[in-house]
Amino acid sequence: SEVLLEDLDHVGPATAQKLKDAGFNTVEAIAVASPAELANSAEIGESTAAKIINAARQAADIGGFETGDTVLERRKLVGKLTTGCEEFDEMMGGGIESQSITEMYGEFGCGKTQVAHQLAVNVQLPPEQGGLGGSVVIIDTENTFRPERIEQMVRGLSEKHGIEYDPEEFLKNIHVARAYNSNHQILLVESASELANELKDSEMPVKLLIVDSLTAHFRAEYIGRGTLADRQQKLNKHLHDIQRFGDLFNACVIVTNQVMSKPDAFFGDPTKPIGGHILGHTATFRLYIRKSKGDKRIVKLVDSPNLPDGEAIMSITTEGLGD
Ligand code: ADP
Ligand code: MG
Repeated sequence: SEVLLEDLDHVGPATAQKLKDAGFNTVEAIAVASPAELANSAEIGESTAAKIINAARQAADIGGFETGDTVLERRKLVGKLTTGCEEFDEMMGGGIESQSITEMYGEFGCGKTQVAHQLAVNVQLPPEQGGLGGSVVIIDTENTFRPERIEQMVRGLSEKHGIEYDPEEFLKNIHVARAYNSNHQILLVESASELANELKDSEMPVKLLIVDSLTAHFRAEYIGRGTLADRQQKLNKHLHDIQRFGDLFNACVIVTNQVMSKPDAFFGDPTKPIGGHILGHTATFRLYIRKSKGDKRIVKLVDSPNLPDGEAIMSITTEGLGD
């Protein structure tokens, strides 16, 4: 939108700067914030924050209710990102959807990070080739991003499409940040929003956000504590920020979540991904990945707002994801 933060009632230059410093760069971002969030970030009272949010909602035209046809209009903008595996794409109704969070969960080594790497490549392709013509932000919490793997996948794609792609060009559109703990991870979503704002009108706007792994830091930091409430609350806010990113930038969001094969007393049911109910209700698409024979993997769509549950078989080879 063309409305500046400074144009909003109750926002002076100093408050505008504080809001920007806290990552609230646009009227839209403020419109969907909570008063407490805004009050903390801009060092203002909650009642002032509420007034600013109302002003932003009016300016950004973000009301409470929408009619179904308006929702349909926005849904028409939803992009579909190819995985490189036909069965997988079909199961997802054409590919990974933008404006949604897609959670991949499974045991260590099942291929979550591989899928993330492949999507970081594919998103850069033009829509005719199944991409979204955009760049990607990766929040890497386990230090598993490998540029060499991207190069291999780009070469694989060159072979598949009979087009000579330049791996270096692809690497230039992948913005990676290591997250050192859960607080840092949460802050990096704000940095990602700033970057996405900067690139919004560029040739390669950010069309994919990857958080790999979403839960590892939370899990490690909250082990042995008496209550999971804190963790869930933080994770919930984090997911809220991530969802907002997807909505604001019409971007795909991929998060990974490791589950254990062995029963784990602390985390309860081993087949249930950590994050429990909150993650279950926020992640719009949930994919359970498990190993099969050789390079094959079984991807199960466990939960979706509009698609039937299903299963797809994909392969992970040096060239990347395939049928
Ligand atoms: P997760 O993130 O779910 O723990 P990964 O995505 O790291 O698991 O998957 C690791 C697996 O991916 C390896 O065990 C191997 O099967 C496959 N893999 C990784 N790199 C390559 C490669 N260069 N060529 C073929 N397969 C690979
Ligand atoms: Mg991984």
